[in-house]
Amino acid sequence: MTSEERPAREERSESPREDRPQRPPPRRFGGRRKVCRFCVDHVKLIDYKDTGRLRMYVSDRGKIEPRRKTGTCLKHQRLVCTAIKRARHLALLPYTLTHIRQTGIFPTRG
Ligand SMILES: [Zn+2]
Repeated sequence: MTSEERPAREERSESPREDRPQRPPPRRFGGRRKVCRFCVDHVKLIDYKDTGRLRMYVSDRGKIEPRRKTGTCLKHQRLVCTAIKRARHLALLPYTLTHIRQTGIFPTRG
């Protein structure tokens, strides 16, 4: 039994919590909502030869970036995924970190 009731802490802050309208959650990284780049550009098919673009969806270790990072929608993420795999097969994109080291295919990230 805790009979001790503390005085309300909110006295200090002037705005009462209940009256406050629902505000959006704080943005951690300063910013804009991620939008699927392909949806913006109305891309229907992703070309596996378009390495300049695909490169943005591959990490510097050669891994395919997850959707939560790139903001790509599911539909396009699937296409990106297959496109990257095709590009890898044709040695347009690296499979592994050792590939990157050996070939230097990834000097900078686009
Ligand atoms: Zn999309």
